[in-house]
Amino acid sequence: MIETKGYAVHEPGSDFSEFNFERRDVGPNDILIDILYAGICHSDIHQAKDEWHDSMPTTYPLVPGHEIVGRVVRVGDDVTKFAVGDLAGIGCFVDSCRECVNCKQGLQQFCFQRAVFTYNGVERDGVTRTYGGYSNNYVIDENYALKVRPADDLRGVAPLLCAGITTYSPLKRFGAGPGKKVGVVGLGGLGHMGVKIAKAMGAEVTIFSTSEGKAADAKALGADHFVVTKDPANLEPLAGTFNIILDTVSADHDINPYLGLLGVGGSMVVVGVPEKPNTVHSLSLIFGNKTLAGSLIGGIPETQEMLDFCADHNITADVEMIDPSRLPEAYDRTVKADVRYRFVIDMQNA
Ligand code: NAP
Ligand code: ZN
Repeated sequence: MIETKGYAVHEPGSDFSEFNFERRDVGPNDILIDILYAGICHSDIHQAKDEWHDSMPTTYPLVPGHEIVGRVVRVGDDVTKFAVGDLAGIGCFVDSCRECVNCKQGLQQFCFQRAVFTYNGVERDGVTRTYGGYSNNYVIDENYALKVRPADDLRGVAPLLCAGITTYSPLKRFGAGPGKKVGVVGLGGLGHMGVKIAKAMGAEVTIFSTSEGKAADAKALGADHFVVTKDPANLEPLAGTFNIILDTVSADHDINPYLGLLGVGGSMVVVGVPEKPNTVHSLSLIFGNKTLAGSLIGGIPETQEMLDFCADHNITADVEMIDPSRLPEAYDRTVKADVRYRFVIDMQNA
């Protein structure tokens, strides 16, 4: 077994403390990754606090982290995709059945037997709990690890493994590109990646934000327009004008005003996961042939495609680096929408 040092919460809302555990030995198809950087996704916070108790209850101790970049330090005998010294990434899941219709299509996140999530999951042996990237290493089957090209800013690559793919996948599916108007609701970790990726795809991008103070950042990120949503009057002139609206908001809010901004045939894609359900009147969708959709991360092939797209377009996340002792501060500031725009933990000396 491989000794691992991680950082865990032991009950909802508790602080992080050092937590030592073991990962499996490196099997024939496995690689061992020394973790360099781990991003902090709002899903980590939801689960650390057990806010998704009814659908995805948290089992403690919880070591979060599913935006992982590291270096391969050991490979199993049958590994072909990675060599010792390569960079590798790990996203939100680390295994799946490989045989169901969804796995066969490369949509492993929708595995009929449920994908093995990177943390707060159970391995396919049915007993071994998974612990995430707030730790110094990970053992993963090579087929579920991603190739990462050497980049100047690997710290900004880590968040692509969740925030990047979660925004890339629906933007591509709903046709973001030249001549298309894309709205991004919420300028946080996902939102800022959505802006960068939609711009790189060629779309005209508007940010909808509750935070007036992010206007200058929005421009620097490449957004064409910035709309403060606290005053509903700001939305009125935009009614019926958007092709795609991507809602990344983590907290309870009304999505109906945004449906009104879609043009005929427009699509609103929800990726944020607030605690409470939303209510939508059928007529809000019927008038204008509108689509209300959801999107969950992406499968392995599309995640690799996204990493390559971002490398080709020089896209990385804007990050604030912390060491594990600052996890409580990072969680508090993220909940207050005060992250610019992803906290990333430096795991090298942790
Ligand atoms: P984040 O960095 O905290 O960003 C969320 C943003 O939402 C904030 O920066 C803020 O932007 C806005 N916001 C916060 N509170 C709000 C409120 N009360 N009303 C309106 N807007 C508010 O979070 P994240 O890491 O980007 O994650 C966003 C959500 O996506 C989370 O719920 C997460 O669990 C979920 N998620 C889903 C997937 C998926 O596959 N579908 C993957 C990853 C994460 P402004 O300051 O601009 O208003
Ligand atoms: Zn995430």
